[in-house]
Amino acid sequence: MKKIAVFTSGGDSPGMNACIRAVVRTGIYRGLDVFGINRGYEGMIEGDIYQMHSHSVSNIIQRGGTMLKSARSMEFKTPEGRKTAYENLTALGIEGLVAIGGDGTFTGAKVFFEEYGIPTVGCPGTIDNDIYGTDYTIGFDTAVNTALEAIDKIRDTAAAHDRIFFVEVMGRDAGFIAIESGIGGGAEFVMVPETQTDLNTVVESLNRHREGIKSSSIIVVAEGDDLGNAGQIMAMVKEKIDNPSKEFKFTTLGHIQRGGAPTARDRVLGSRCGMGAVDGLLAGKTNCMSGVMNNELVYTPFADCIGKTKSINPDHLALIEILSI
Ligand code: ATP
Repeated sequence: MKKIAVFTSGGDSPGMNACIRAVVRTGIYRGLDVFGINRGYEGMIEGDIYQMHSHSVSNIIQRGGTMLKSARSMEFKTPEGRKTAYENLTALGIEGLVAIGGDGTFTGAKVFFEEYGIPTVGCPGTIDNDIYGTDYTIGFDTAVNTALEAIDKIRDTAAAHDRIFFVEVMGRDAGFIAIESGIGGGAEFVMVPETQTDLNTVVESLNRHREGIKSSSIIVVAEGDDLGNAGQIMAMVKEKIDNPSKEFKFTTLGHIQRGGAPTARDRVLGSRCGMGAVDGLLAGKTNCMSGVMNNELVYTPFADCIGKTKSINPDHLALIEILSI
């Protein structure tokens, strides 16, 4: 293998740049020509591919977003789109790919490998942490810390006005961001899609808090919760609570959780996965993801990354309940 290409695809996440840098520099260190593909599969189809050098990735490790830009490509889901992508890659002599993204990106990479056989190793780039085969995904730690900073600020105003605050965090169908920011932010309650939320338990708990010494409360809601969004859940709780004159507020944190300078953890994880992806390709690995489990670099087949569900730790939910008395 002499030429490889790297791209970012799907939702961007802080630490993707550290990963790109690691792919480019490891590739060059190992004697490869490394190409960058702009805007994921979209750029692969359009032929937006260029050779990268060591200096191409200077001064990016501390930046959020992705220097290669990201996109969602409907065309890559068609056989014609993938054929054009394959022709563009082979015209440049590219023999291996590093795909940085989430499960959608890996699904595309798996289909592409099965059709055209270009070896591909993935790196888990998503803030949601919902990928099997790695303890954490690149960007998760930064997103949690961004949410935490916001929760700390909301707590100040909640306490000043004796308010009950519902804070909605990202995570799509996964509650990892909600759980970690909830524990770190001392939330009274965390609602996640992985468990059925019982409204009565929330109401009882808030009533109990009011009888005690707590005058304000923070409830963290994962965006995919089965009961609805933070505003809808707030309205339902308000109807049932003993003292409806209590002031209720909700905040949706939104895309600020996607941006910002990556934390040290995300830079280290991005760097390790990126180097692992290149070394994996050179060792003959393909159709798999380079991730970190128990602090060891591991390769997990795309089929497992896509098909298996990473579970939340029920002890973490118990922890939140116990610590919120
Ligand atoms: P995130 O979890 O942050 O949203 P993701 O990688 O899951 O990231 P998706 O939008 O689901 O993001 O997928 C990225 C791209 O992968 C899609 O836009 C599409 O081009 C490609 N892709 C996804 N599924 C398939 C598929 N079945 N066949 C071919 N390509 C696919």
